[in-house]
Amino acid sequence: MSSTASVPQRRGLLLIVSSPSGAGKTTLTRLLLAEDKSMHLSISVTTRPRRGSEIDGVHYRFIDAGTFETMRERGELLESAKVHGNYYGTPAGPVEEALAAGRDVLFDIDWQGTMQIYNKMRPDIVSVFVLPPSVAELKARLERRAEDSAEIILQRLQNARVEISHWTKYDYVLVNTDLQTTYAKLKEILDVERMKRQDKSQVGQLVDTLKADLDALTRG
Ligand code: 5GP
Repeated sequence: MSSTASVPQRRGLLLIVSSPSGAGKTTLTRLLLAEDKSMHLSISVTTRPRRGSEIDGVHYRFIDAGTFETMRERGELLESAKVHGNYYGTPAGPVEEALAAGRDVLFDIDWQGTMQIYNKMRPDIVSVFVLPPSVAELKARLERRAEDSAEIILQRLQNARVEISHWTKYDYVLVNTDLQTTYAKLKEILDVERMKRQDKSQVGQLVDTLKADLDALTRG
């Protein structure tokens, strides 16, 4: 008998995580990226001013409105949307390259962008919506971040009302009461969805080998 169980390969998936600002989505995605080196983060372009803690090219590519418009007109963006008064978009090139290299891609984008990517790549998408446990917690998290003015925090709370109404369009919903518990659930989702996408042709080959070996063994 010579069979060894080869690990089945699978196609890359697109993991989209959305939530209203302050629900903990960015912390969750950063934890995932730190732990899972096979995951590629899609770095968005935005016209929003850079926050003090952010690094250009790491958290976003910060660009002006003219450059954004040019990228959109040239079809260089997989999706784009206006969120909280600023423009955001996903450059298509790096996503295509990562998928071609067999990597999974993580997106931290809003529901408008999610709908646009659904239309283009639905079977490869896994979408997760993160809800805060309460408005008090949402507000506290936005204030703890201490990087936005009171006016911007108010705008984000106003927008949260619209954003949370889109949870029904997502594959999974997580209520982020406790960060570690939510993170564990996110990883479970990813594990299951990766397994679902295993290349069945290789599983078929393995099953054929197992059958042949079983035949040889039981034939006596
Ligand atoms: P923030 O300004 O707090 O970094 O992000 C504001 C919102 O914009 C978040 O909900 C975030 O998920 C969303 N966002 C960030 N990048 C993109 C993008 O490329 N496309 C879309 N549609 N939304 C984005």
